[in-house]
Amino acid sequence: MNASSFQPPVRTLMGPGPADLHPRVLAALSRPTVGHLDPVFGGMMDELKDLLRYAFRTDNRLTMPVSAPGSAGMETCFVNLVEPGDKVVVCINGVFGGRMRENVIRAGGEPICIEDPWGRAVDPGKLEDTLKAHPDAKIVAFVQAETSTGASSDTRTLAEIARRYGCLTIVDAVTALAGSPLLVDDWGIDAVYSGSQKCLSCTPGLAPVSFSERALAKVTARATPVRSWFLDLNLVLGYWGGGTPGQTKRSYHHTAPVNALYALHESLVMLAEEGIEQSWARHQAHHLALRAGLEAMGLELVVPEAERLPQLNAVSIPAGIDDATVRARLLNEYNLEIGAGLGALAGKVWRIGLMGWSCRRENIVLCIGALGSVLN
Ligand code: PLP
Repeated sequence: MNASSFQPPVRTLMGPGPADLHPRVLAALSRPTVGHLDPVFGGMMDELKDLLRYAFRTDNRLTMPVSAPGSAGMETCFVNLVEPGDKVVVCINGVFGGRMRENVIRAGGEPICIEDPWGRAVDPGKLEDTLKAHPDAKIVAFVQAETSTGASSDTRTLAEIARRYGCLTIVDAVTALAGSPLLVDDWGIDAVYSGSQKCLSCTPGLAPVSFSERALAKVTARATPVRSWFLDLNLVLGYWGGGTPGQTKRSYHHTAPVNALYALHESLVMLAEEGIEQSWARHQAHHLALRAGLEAMGLELVVPEAERLPQLNAVSIPAGIDDATVRARLLNEYNLEIGAGLGALAGKVWRIGLMGWSCRRENIVLCIGALGSVLN
């Protein structure tokens, strides 16, 4: 076999994720690998959990990264919290809400779906009406930042309604975390998951999760075992800790992705240095700059202004413009990646991401300049 080292081109990643990695995060990846049960590594794991608590704005003791991508964070929430026969209200306004529904079914639950148009936020009024009609619902699930459309839903209000009707909440914060305000404790969220590759600017493949005491109590009191061995928090916590107060001993569950966790630690240190509020503000400020540039070119954003995410901008593709040709030219001529539309919006929109380290002034200038020249 005649293979040689893979040397990827240096791209600027302005799609729906992954985002660019900061050189400090790349450097952290190349530090010496230690054993996943090495006490030194254990110290880093504890700090990593504290840093995640900072990012999620929570004191939840069960706060840790799952060793797999955001989808595994989603599955962790559903397989642990949904018991066979549980009614789960799922708010669907894009691709990822649809995946939540799938997760409920596979966990043996009964989904009650509320649909909102793609490109719009979840409607709190519909949630309240649905909970009135289904007083036996146990869980409400929704996506804060729908990456497939760029719509931002009002997590604070949706979680407050769910709590009023005695439901636990599962919130998808894969694209939200560090890009938009997310206050897990203040807003009373019970289970939340994210992904390392979006506004945290880390490598893809890790899924931070956080569970409230109420959620953890449901997991530990289950009448039936969790249907996934790998994602069963009752087992995972033997390694990460957090299930039992004061637990210090770690035992083998799976071999943790040691170097990827160094990278996540570094990206969270950088977030703490910047400050979470400053990170939210940076995403918003650059979103406004990008929007001004796009509008000056006559391009339109899909989502109404009040419901727009700063970190994911869905732009309508003008009539007569070939989607794939434009994206290929941006990639080949400018080393710039923007995203295609997904699901119902495939071929209709471009998705321009401003996530983490990708969300900086020089990238706005590059994106507007490159798009302007390709479209003219
Ligand atoms: N949820 C949302 C909102 C996402 O944007 C994504 C990925 O783009 C996922 C879940 C799944 O994450 P991953 O692709 O890391 O498995």
